[in-house]
Amino acid sequence: MTDAPTKTLSLEEVKALAKSVLVSAGMDERGSDILADLVMRSERDDPRSHGLRMLPVYAQSFESKYANPTANPTVERIAPGVLRGDGDNGYYQIVGADARDELIGMARENGIASFTCANCHHLGALRFDTEPLAQAGLVALGVVNSLSMVVPQGGLRPVFGTNPMSFACPRQEAEPVVWDQASSVAALMDVRMAAAEGHDLARPSGLDTSGQPTTDPNAILETRSLLPFGEHKGAAIAFLIEVLGAALAGGTLSVDNKERESFGALNIKGGATLIAIDPSRFGNPAFNDYVTRICAEIEGNGTARVPGDGRLKNRAATEANGVSVAPDLMAQLQAL
Ligand code: NDP
Repeated sequence: MTDAPTKTLSLEEVKALAKSVLVSAGMDERGSDILADLVMRSERDDPRSHGLRMLPVYAQSFESKYANPTANPTVERIAPGVLRGDGDNGYYQIVGADARDELIGMARENGIASFTCANCHHLGALRFDTEPLAQAGLVALGVVNSLSMVVPQGGLRPVFGTNPMSFACPRQEAEPVVWDQASSVAALMDVRMAAAEGHDLARPSGLDTSGQPTTDPNAILETRSLLPFGEHKGAAIAFLIEVLGAALAGGTLSVDNKERESFGALNIKGGATLIAIDPSRFGNPAFNDYVTRICAEIEGNGTARVPGDGRLKNRAATEANGVSVAPDLMAQLQAL
């Protein structure tokens, strides 16, 4: 623990701090610019667990030689609607940025196009991968598989990663609708946090050593077996993501993702797929009115809100007030 006060950083300072940590860890100019920008966006919009707190994970992954800090990814068009990437064992975000403009062009040309990528590391919060497509007027669906931690409904052994998905679509005269979510009831980080803070989870989120659902975070950390959200329905979504992510991309299956252990690393390698749809090519000229109507039916409906809009509130708050960085985290980053 440190006695230093909590520090408030502007978003530019967050980005500069992230950039300097990544460069010190051996990352090249372009890769460090891309990751630093995403660290800043995660602090700005949430999830903050993918912001400054990821920097020690990135640094460790380079130091241990698990991930490539100077990756030279490739992107190749292998079918009229399919782009395929190889991340050169670097972070997905870099190859994702390389593919973006071509993917947008292909979706506008064909109505639908996809980018699929293997040999790449943890892509962080998916919302930052789908949002730029919606800003370009497209509908986007992104998935990535990860490391097996989620049991199929009724199972005793993890099969799926926390396999997140993200959806984004344009919204007339407003920021796009963008949401992303894991396939598990709770993220592993939330289980760890509850254990550290000494309280139970709000709902059964994993299995104990006798295979029973439990709210005890320590029991879940022992089995490393999380429950899918919505019982069999979440497990089915995790299955879909395992296929669209690992299988289509040729990435590592969540059950096989153990290579990191020999490097002592925390990040993961999986397969990612991003599908881009141009609604103006689908034959309904009133597409935007439909989205407006769906959102209008949610807003003002009790306490409901359009999924993902919380990020816009966080964005406004951090743009106005900056980001508070806990003293322990600041000390850890300064030591890197
Ligand atoms: P949450 O359950 O916190 O949120 C899921 C989505 O629902 C978010 O878009 C959130 O956006 C929105 N939301 C939350 N509460 C409400 C509400 N009351 N009404 C409407 N919308 C709501 O996310 P998870 O814990 O499942 O995932 C956290 C992050 O971790 C995600 O960004 C995900 O991409 C990432 N992740 C990455 C993994 C990887 O391997 N790369 C693995 C697993 C997760 P908002 O609150 O802004 O509205």
